[in-house]
Amino acid sequence: MTDVVALSAAQAARAVERGELDVGELFETYRARAAAEDLNAFLWVADGPPAPAGNGGAADGRPALGGVPLGVKDLFCTAGVPSQAGSRILEGYRPPYTATVVRKLAEAGAPLLGKTNQDEFAMGSSNENSAYGPVLNPWDRTRVPGGSSGGSAAAVAAGLVPWALGTDTGGSIRQPAALCGIVGLKPTYGACSRFGMIAFASSLDQAGPLTRDVTDAALLFRHMVGRDERDSTSVAYPEEVRLPSAERLDGMRLGVPEDLATAEGVEPGVMERFEQTLALARELGASVEQVALPHADYGLSAYYVLAPAEASSNLARFDGVRYGLRVDGDDLLSMYTRTRHDGFGAEVKRRILIGTYALSSGYYDAYYGRAQRVRTKIADDFRAAFERVDLVVTPTSPGVAFELGAKTADPLAMYLNDYFTVPMPLAGIPAISIPCGLSDGLPVGFQLAGPAFSENRILDAAYALEQAIGFDNSPARA
Ligand code: GLN
Repeated sequence: MTDVVALSAAQAARAVERGELDVGELFETYRARAAAEDLNAFLWVADGPPAPAGNGGAADGRPALGGVPLGVKDLFCTAGVPSQAGSRILEGYRPPYTATVVRKLAEAGAPLLGKTNQDEFAMGSSNENSAYGPVLNPWDRTRVPGGSSGGSAAAVAAGLVPWALGTDTGGSIRQPAALCGIVGLKPTYGACSRFGMIAFASSLDQAGPLTRDVTDAALLFRHMVGRDERDSTSVAYPEEVRLPSAERLDGMRLGVPEDLATAEGVEPGVMERFEQTLALARELGASVEQVALPHADYGLSAYYVLAPAEASSNLARFDGVRYGLRVDGDDLLSMYTRTRHDGFGAEVKRRILIGTYALSSGYYDAYYGRAQRVRTKIADDFRAAFERVDLVVTPTSPGVAFELGAKTADPLAMYLNDYFTVPMPLAGIPAISIPCGLSDGLPVGFQLAGPAFSENRILDAAYALEQAIGFDNSPARA
């Protein structure tokens, strides 16, 4: 008998295709694991396999993704299934429709296994902002899995599901992937439809895969992309998404931001693994040079104005009238305020306050307008960098997974986690995090970013490095 859980998603799909693995057994193996888990990674688990959803993609009628079950972050709307965005205000909300990417993946043969825990409305870097309690990191249960897609990352790392969907607004796919020792890809803005994703910051949000390896990320991403008439910011992906195969990096130019070596707050163990990975890249034929990203340092400040500004507007719809929680009041206004008082957690309220303030008429240009200009500068920096190098590389996160509770009292310390991940969504460009080794027994992530729609190049480079690194993520699945 094959050890089902030892197979990557691509391997499981192939085993099903060859008739070596029964698709029902595959689903049930993971369903049982997800239903019995004790990391608090899942908020809802399916009772059994869903009815077949079509044969999307395969010419011979067999679904391309082989029936390999999928974990889906709670904020993706899934028809008839709780979709709460980790918030009390949406407790028990079952939408009447399904997000485009989830539908596309189900049609391609990746049925929904369960909904994964997350920071409330995707605001956070540790999953401690979930109204449904924190998720534990399978590498060390006293530590956070990262956020906001912490449930998806922990579930994949622990082998509770073969692969999962997350969303990334400022790092929420890549940072939890790094902290859990798996792969996370944030696509180019517009590559995947946002229809049916409960919005945080609409000009930044993108859906993407969290997987055990780079091949699985490419396979899932390939079936997510495309123009959707229900999302006017989505575009047709300009080329076919290929499964990566590069063994070497000959001719590839990697750029390291020049102030990285002096950046404060990067843990020495993270820096060591990063340098080691650069050395491996050179052995594979890549050249490594420094690039200037003079405005990247302002990324966090701009992000923490823009994202809350957009969130304050997006979250205005949660008023007790149409969705989820309603707390009655003496009149309409008190019903609104009581519902929002009880329904939103502290971090969400903090963001609404910041965002509303930044958008208020007297301050609009001083904060929002200025942050938008910084955003343009950051995009320009990357454009200039990509004239000299193919990809920009950094550590994904300045540190490894931290102890639960270590940063909850200090929002600024929490926000610093996103230092290396916010510039890319601000510029709309894609980036991946792959595991590059351990520091004190905990996974470290290596980030590769490229120009818009360069996912094939990113995946190829990540794949070549992955083979050379040989990271073993099985301990987290024990
Ligand atoms: N940690 C960042 C935040 O709290 C990023 C979140 C995200 O990408 N959704 O906003």
